[in-house]
Amino acid sequence: MEKELELNDLYDGFRNPEVMKAYAKLIEEDASKLDKTINIMEVCGGHTHTIMKYGVPQLLPSNINFIHGPGCPVCVMPKDKIDSAYALAMQEDIILVTLGDMIKVPGSNGSLQDARSKGADVRFVYSPMDCIKIADENPSKTVVFFAIGFETTTPMTCSLLKTVIAKDMKNLYFHVNHVTVPEVMEVLVQSDDCKIDAFLGPSHVSVISGSKIYEPFPKKYNKPVVVSGFEPVDVMQSIHMLIRQFVENRSDLEVEYKRLVSFEGNLKAQEMIDTYLKKVTFKFRGVGEVPLSGYDLKDEFDKYNAKVIYEKILPKETPKENKACKCPEILKGVAKPTDCKIFGNVCTPTNPVGSCMVSSEGACAAYYKYGNLLK
Ligand code: SF4
Ligand code: SF4
Repeated sequence: MEKELELNDLYDGFRNPEVMKAYAKLIEEDASKLDKTINIMEVCGGHTHTIMKYGVPQLLPSNINFIHGPGCPVCVMPKDKIDSAYALAMQEDIILVTLGDMIKVPGSNGSLQDARSKGADVRFVYSPMDCIKIADENPSKTVVFFAIGFETTTPMTCSLLKTVIAKDMKNLYFHVNHVTVPEVMEVLVQSDDCKIDAFLGPSHVSVISGSKIYEPFPKKYNKPVVVSGFEPVDVMQSIHMLIRQFVENRSDLEVEYKRLVSFEGNLKAQEMIDTYLKKVTFKFRGVGEVPLSGYDLKDEFDKYNAKVIYEKILPKETPKENKACKCPEILKGVAKPTDCKIFGNVCTPTNPVGSCMVSSEGACAAYYKYGNLLK
C-alpha cells in the first residue's frame, strides 16, 4: 500500500541538510571571487527566523553578512499606536481585537496584556473574520479590530469590512495600521548610513503584491533583489542567486519563490485593497514617517473608522521611547540585537522591553532563541 502523504513530506526537500551543504559550497566558490563583503538585508522577519534557526550564517563564508530588516508588522508598530490600542481597550463598552503578538508589545501605560489584567476585554484572533462572531455574540458591545500587517494580511481586513457592510453590522469598527514594504525599503537605501548591498525579498508580501513592487531597487538603486521562499533551502538558493549577480556584475530582480510568486501578484486581492483603503503616511518604529507606506480606510467608510469615531479619546502626544532599547537601529539595519546592552539580561521574551523581543518574527526574539548557534 502506498504511504499517505504527510505534511513533513512537503517540507523535507526544502530542509534537506545535504542540499544546503551543496548550496553552501556553490556560494563559497562564488563569494571567493569577490573582493568585498556583501551585506544582504532580509526584509522579512520570517526570513530572519529561518536564517537563525537553521544556522545559515555558519554555513556561509565570512564575506557574506546579514542585515535584519523592518519586515515584521509587530516590530515596526510605533509606541503611539500601541497607546491608541490601549486607550481603546480601556473603554468599558469596547472589545479590542487584534492579531497574536501585538498584545505583548509594551506601550507607555503597558501592553494590551496589561490592559487585560486591569479588566479590559482584549482578544486576539488568527483570522480577522473571527471578529464577526465576537460582534454577533456581544450585541451590547462595540468590537474594534486593531488591524496590523503588511500586504499579506491587508486583503483579509478588506474582506472583513466587505462582510460588515453586507451584513449592515453596527458594532464592528476598524483601527487600520496596515503597512507596505517597498516604501520603507526605499527610505533605507536612500539613508546616509545605508550598508545594504542586496535584498532578500519577502515572500508572503510578494504573493499578494507581485515581484513588480521591487522593480526600482536593482535598476534605480543598483541593489539586486531575489524574492525568496521561507524554507532554509529556499534561502540558500536565493543567496546563491544574489552572489551570482555580483560575480556576473548584474543587478536584477529575480524570483526564487516561483512556486507562489508571480510578477503581477494576486490581482483580486489588490483590487480589494483599492476598493476599501487609501494610502497614507505611516510612522515606522525606528525609521520614522514614511510617505504612502501605510493604509487607512477610504473617507467614504468613515462610519467604520475607529480613528474617526473615537478621535477624542485617542492619545495625541508622542510617547517617550526607552533609550536603552536598540529596536529603532535594528529595524533600520544599522545594529544587531547583540549590540543592545540589555539584550538577554533585562530584556527577554518573558520581559520584553522592545517590540523586536516580543514578536515571533522579531530579530531579538530570533537571536534569543537560536543565538547560541552563533557562538
Ligand atoms: S507577514 Fe510574511 S512576509 Fe510579512 S513579515 Fe511576516 S512572514 Fe514576512
Ligand atoms: S534586546 Fe530588547 S531592548 Fe534591546 S533592542 Fe531588542 S527589544 Fe529592544
